[in-house]
Amino acid sequence: MNTRVVIVGGGTAGWLTAGIIAAKHCSVESSGNPSIQQTEVVLVESPDVKNLGVGEGTWPTMRDTLRQIGISERTFLACCDASFKQASKFVGWLDGGHEHYYHPFMPPAGYGSVSMAQHWSATPKDLDFERWVSAQGTICEQNLAPKTPQMPEYAFALNYGYHLNAGKFVKMLHTHCVEKLGVQYIQGHVEHVLPAENGDISEIVLASGQHVAGNLFIDCSGFTAILIGKHYQVPFQSKQHILFNDTALALQVDHASEDVPIASCTVATAQKSGWIWDISLQSRRGIGHVFSSDFTDVEQAEEALFNYVQNDPNLASGQLTARKIKFTPGHRATFWHQNCVAIGVSAGFVEPLEATALVLIEKSAEWISEQLPRDRNAMTVLAKRFNQLTSQRWQEIIDFLKLHYVLTNRKDSEYWLAHQQAESIPQSLQEALALWHSQAPGVYETNQRFELFSSASKQYVLYGMGFHTAQEQSEQVRQKETSIVKRFRNETTHTTEKLLNVLPSNRQFLSGLNKV
Ligand SMILES: Cc1cc2nc3c(=O)[nH]c(=O)nc-3n(C[C@H](O)[C@H](O)[C@H](O)COP(=O)(O)OP(=O)(O)OC[C@H]3O[C@@H](n4cnc5c(N)ncnc54)[C@H](O)[C@@H]3O)c2cc1C
Repeated sequence: MNTRVVIVGGGTAGWLTAGIIAAKHCSVESSGNPSIQQTEVVLVESPDVKNLGVGEGTWPTMRDTLRQIGISERTFLACCDASFKQASKFVGWLDGGHEHYYHPFMPPAGYGSVSMAQHWSATPKDLDFERWVSAQGTICEQNLAPKTPQMPEYAFALNYGYHLNAGKFVKMLHTHCVEKLGVQYIQGHVEHVLPAENGDISEIVLASGQHVAGNLFIDCSGFTAILIGKHYQVPFQSKQHILFNDTALALQVDHASEDVPIASCTVATAQKSGWIWDISLQSRRGIGHVFSSDFTDVEQAEEALFNYVQNDPNLASGQLTARKIKFTPGHRATFWHQNCVAIGVSAGFVEPLEATALVLIEKSAEWISEQLPRDRNAMTVLAKRFNQLTSQRWQEIIDFLKLHYVLTNRKDSEYWLAHQQAESIPQSLQEALALWHSQAPGVYETNQRFELFSSASKQYVLYGMGFHTAQEQSEQVRQKETSIVKRFRNETTHTTEKLLNVLPSNRQFLSGLNKV
């Protein structure tokens, strides 16, 4: 059976999904040969509904995605005003002051062979956990790049993702998908759906009257959720009782000059009723305040945001006008229904903490591309599996994001107090926390091959937030591992010193690229 995949929506979700599927299935050589199964990818985008235009922090997974789609890193960095992201830095989450911790992309030294976290817990604290086991926070403090210009594209000294201009990213993907991967683009607003007898979508009908037929329909229509929500009425499950944030104010502010540092991490600074994100691109910063409207109002949130910007000498001064984005945190009850699967915001969205949205788009599109159903029976089985996996992933995301809030000592606002209330903490997270009191999260934490957050990530957040794991190892185990721990400690110190000497600043690396 030939497969015609119709994607509705031309935001980041739509174009990433189109690129990932087309790069694998739409080979130029096979087109025109009737004996070879053909896959066509069609993307329909409304001229009337703007895409979100935010979503500027990625995971390291984006390097593989770009490589698979066939985009050179140099082109990407130049086209998307992009820079390197090596970590998230959390400021004020524990006590509401200037204290901070890092969640870097490199796992702790010795990860998988020895639990450095368990040993750190038993050690007098001369260094915080992240510095004890990793060079990356120190490198981020100096705004250094994760690689040298001599290294090949996508290779690294320290694992990294990107900060990017979302509008430019969508444009680059659009051009690449259409010109290089054979994705067919139709501009048109989907008005309604023509169902088949079995309840599948047979065709979508555009405002122009044009009908677009397909076998598999991917709903990437953002908050509109035209297929999964409007047509199929798949229920939306709010998670606002766990993650309270429901409003964002977004700004784009120029650097004060062409030589101010470009940060190598996303900075997330806690506020009274939410937090401010700060993402450094080559030419500007993306800064925004995400907060809960149950605990504050837009005026106060805007004031906190403007103060943040105006107190930073590395930002250009000028009139500030924030864009307001309202959302209900949560996700669909199911994601694949009949022959329609939702990817991106149409499937769900819960605040931008830890940048979980783009990675879930990449992972979902990759899964579908790898297992593209070749007949209708296969689709039923695959849909069931996809729903199970995606539900698990959402639970994982929600637990992990909530973890950032529950360990706070902050008592300065109702918002932070409410986050510590047991009734707002999922049972699964409460159980994990109880376990982590006696043993550090380790590689046996989950048995999911497709987990999003490794136990390394959990360790960084837990110990960054001052969590205490009792030292329960036997004396024999501790003694046996002492020399291994020493070795990894020495390695971390040595690597940190070496990298501080060889890595260029983010700014130097990126301006060097533009000169060639
Ligand atoms: C404040 C904020 C900050 C964020 N930060 C991050 C981050 O740092 N990292 C991260 O990973 N994610 C982040 N996200 C999430 C990220 O922005 C989204 O996951 C990403 O932009 C994907 O959006 P989308 O493509 O699903 O939807 P959209 O960008 O909204 O695209 C929807 C598309 O559907 C089309 N459409 C709508 N209705 C119709 C119709 N009837 N017919 C045809 N086409 C239609 C529109 O024209 C548009 O092209 C953030 C989100 C918010 C709100």
